[in-house]
Amino acid sequence: MADAKTIDGKAIAAGLRRAAADVSARLRQEMQVTASLAAVLVGDDPASEVYVRAKARACDAVGIQSFEIRLPASTSEAVLVDEVERLNADDRVDGVLVQLPLPPHIDAHRIIAAIDPVKDVDGFHPVNVGRLWSGLPGLVPCTPQGCMILLRSVRDDLSGAEAVVIGRSNIVGKPMAALLLAADCTVTTVHSKSLDGAAICRRADILVAAAGRPEMVKADWVKPGAIVIDVGINAVVQGDARSRVVGDVDYASVRGIAGAITPVPGGVGPMTIACLLRNTLFAACRRRGLRDPLM
Ligand code: NAD
Repeated sequence: MADAKTIDGKAIAAGLRRAAADVSARLRQEMQVTASLAAVLVGDDPASEVYVRAKARACDAVGIQSFEIRLPASTSEAVLVDEVERLNADDRVDGVLVQLPLPPHIDAHRIIAAIDPVKDVDGFHPVNVGRLWSGLPGLVPCTPQGCMILLRSVRDDLSGAEAVVIGRSNIVGKPMAALLLAADCTVTTVHSKSLDGAAICRRADILVAAAGRPEMVKADWVKPGAIVIDVGINAVVQGDARSRVVGDVDYASVRGIAGAITPVPGGVGPMTIACLLRNTLFAACRRRGLRDPLM
């Protein structure tokens, strides 16, 4: 069997960013609206710093105004709720996100629930979660939204496909399952307590791996011709003590059996921030009663 088609997330994400730049320019020129995103960072987790900076840079590049709110790790839950409520009330702000993870003394559920659902560009607020599962329009979490765009780049009609999602987090696995269900797939979730996940995965026409387990999915987990979307980002230390990033899928062996596959890096990763830009523009339009030309 020929090697799988590589799904180029970098190129597809670049296209989304160009479209976002067009929409944000039109909003500015035709409506005098500059879309904006506020990102709240609590503490100094180095990975979170990198993500927040990357989000701000991506906003700047497409003409979305970005605000960074940095708070010390010692910030109390009540002060963080106040800060979120201040951003909710600030008319200049279209999107609000609180970078996760939060320090252990803060209940992330409580903070997410404090974000105005209309500005909840991560799509984690229970109102947006409920809208997603109810088939209503709302803000959809960025990573699974990006996975759907990648999937549709190789197969437009997903109706009737057997889809298996590995992982059941609120950020990736569960919303991914909801989106696949909405696309008329037959959906199964495999998680850490599943029995014989490999056998379940072998049934999949569409396999989405989001377990955070380096190269767990081997060639014998994959049905010939399946579309494989690898969400995993895992740093593994090599023999020379340097680390490299691998996905949840053993790319080298699986590309010999899959029909199409996303690489790591360069697959799902670039899509997440591109979809955050989409969500920010969606929020900016919806707040003003405008139809979002990107959706
Ligand atoms: P998480 O730790 O919150 O959830 C992992 C899920 O995988 C859990 O539901 C667990 O039940 C399941 N799981 C763990 N071990 C398993 C096993 N052996 N078999 C089957 N299921 C198993 O992680 P998350 O936030 O959902 O992220 C998952 C992965 O995706 C991580 O590697 C993360 O870094 C990556 N990620 C990437 C992006 C991106 O932009 N590409 C965004 C978010 C997360």
